[in-house]
Amino acid sequence: MTRQSDPKATEKRSVRRSETSRLERRAFLGALGATAGAFSIGATAGTGAGAPDGVQKATGIPGFSCDKRQFTCGQQVTAADGMVSSVDPIASGVAATVLREGGNAVDAAIALQYVLTVTQPHGSGIGGGGFMVIYDADADEVSVVNSRERAPHGATEDMFLDEDGEPIPFSERIQMGEAVGVPGTVMGLETARDLHGSRPRQRLIRPAIDLARDGFPVDRVFAEQIAENWEKFNEAAKEAYSDEDGNPLTEGDTHVNTDLADTLEWTKWWGADAFYEGPIADDLVATVQAAGGSMTADDLSDYDVTLDEPVRAEWNDLEIVGQPLPSSGPSTVIYILKLLESLDIGQYDLRSPEKYHLIAEATSLAWADRNEYMGDPEFADVPIDGLLDDEYLAARAERIQVGETLADYEGGECVEAGVPPGVDAPQATTSPDAKYGSTSHFSVVDGDGNAVSYTSTIEQFMGSGMMVPGRGFMLNNELTDFNAVPDGPNKVEPWKRPLSSMSPTIVMRDGVPEFTVGSPGGWTIITSVAQTILHRYVYGLDPLEALTEPIVFTTECPPITWEDGVPASAREATEALGQVWRDESDGDIGNVQVIDIDDELTGAADPTRDGQAVGFDRSGWHWPTGKRGHGKTD
Ligand code: GLU
Repeated sequence: MTRQSDPKATEKRSVRRSETSRLERRAFLGALGATAGAFSIGATAGTGAGAPDGVQKATGIPGFSCDKRQFTCGQQVTAADGMVSSVDPIASGVAATVLREGGNAVDAAIALQYVLTVTQPHGSGIGGGGFMVIYDADADEVSVVNSRERAPHGATEDMFLDEDGEPIPFSERIQMGEAVGVPGTVMGLETARDLHGSRPRQRLIRPAIDLARDGFPVDRVFAEQIAENWEKFNEAAKEAYSDEDGNPLTEGDTHVNTDLADTLEWTKWWGADAFYEGPIADDLVATVQAAGGSMTADDLSDYDVTLDEPVRAEWNDLEIVGQPLPSSGPSTVIYILKLLESLDIGQYDLRSPEKYHLIAEATSLAWADRNEYMGDPEFADVPIDGLLDDEYLAARAERIQVGETLADYEGGECVEAGVPPGVDAPQATTSPDAKYGSTSHFSVVDGDGNAVSYTSTIEQFMGSGMMVPGRGFMLNNELTDFNAVPDGPNKVEPWKRPLSSMSPTIVMRDGVPEFTVGSPGGWTIITSVAQTILHRYVYGLDPLEALTEPIVFTTECPPITWEDGVPASAREATEALGQVWRDESDGDIGNVQVIDIDDELTGAADPTRDGQAVGFDRSGWHWPTGKRGHGKTD
């Protein structure tokens, strides 16, 4: 990947803030002294402050319009020189302009994630964490920047238990100060930029600052999430997400977040130091502590990302590559896909009872093992090689029969964990609460073949409901991803990262990326990603069809949840075998964004949240038919 900085210097900076960073920090703290505590920079930045009337310039992203001949926008589009697929049309547009300026896929992804902090604060943001899977075409390697939140040093294994030793109800846990993990997103973005970026930080954060300061229209999902989470909000969030009369913002209202613009402006100048030390960090910590959490300033200044070796496995002449533990995601995707490969699932029709039955059984087996064995590998001894061992998986697959179920689901039985190589016996870890949070996934591929598959989160929609007063961003409640009951590899421990299901994945052929994929949706992320890959590669659907084809999900215990479109006849046929389905469909599960990489790039964005793919052609334009012309630029 073409990049600006010296590779040696950046590697040094990859995990903790570097000496360079320390110099920046000193300058940063000096600058703070100069402002004598008046931590507001709207005026000095010269960008203009204050709430505008109506939608301002930010929604007209400078240099971007879907009508321009170099860009093409839609739920599924094709282009030659760059592709972005995200949940947010504004964010996709910003990222596409970075590509047009010659920025690489990582540059575009960084700009995109900062914009999502502003325009989709319900799904992800600088108060959360995530996993960025990166293919560097020059180096011909996949690497992962892991910015998962960590439990504060003061976290205790019983912090989610009540006085009687019972788990505090999930609906209460999600609002506890103890649920807030030390955020990783800013450090993750800075690390990715250090390692792979080619554009100055200022360029990549600027669009997000302009959007926050000048305003943009609240979209349908943002409005729904403001309404749904209103009772959960602290005062700062209520103030930020209400109109002048104190009413919750609704679709089409202009949202301005000057506090967030200021926070991002500081980050623009001072990088991660602005976030992890000084007044922003102090306010973050005060907010968490006021809600009962133990987080301290030291927790923030100690925060480190890790650079992980991706998990990878051969499958169907391809290689599935993705975020390893502490996400269970891609490992469990691989587990399920390998079982389905052994069962030759492709012999059954796309919407046949057999197909749904095999997926449900394979997912049950995977889930039993996931919940029993997986956790943060810095703390837990996870038998991951055994779990993904071909012989072990073949033996697990052999247990699945087309004509019967693995367990007496109707009688309330669940599938039990296996005994993979390296394990004596399962410990029968307490089954955790089902997790159906939400998040955002996006993909970017540039004209040089670099690719990013990035899922980032604040856990539940709107996270903990706590906005840091005066700073404009929401805090995560990621630590609810730990088991509340202190047993098993995913129990709470200080500085540990909770087990995730996020599955940013790249499918490779002959060592080169061919498909990027990921989704939000808590536990169902794994299902969405596995079945999108199945639909693309075993059933040969095109990218948009592959992600919209109805899917099913189950844990090791019934019932099976399902999307609209799974035929009643198929459900009834499997019920006769003993499968148990939920009475009602879940409507839509997940929100998958993909990019297919062939001679051209095809991006597809899941319609369930108004996402948009934006393609970029350096020297061409798209006729309305989708045919590409040449020789003219806008
Ligand atoms: N907390 C979830 C996880 O890491 C992500 C949020 C979501 O559910 O989408 O698995």
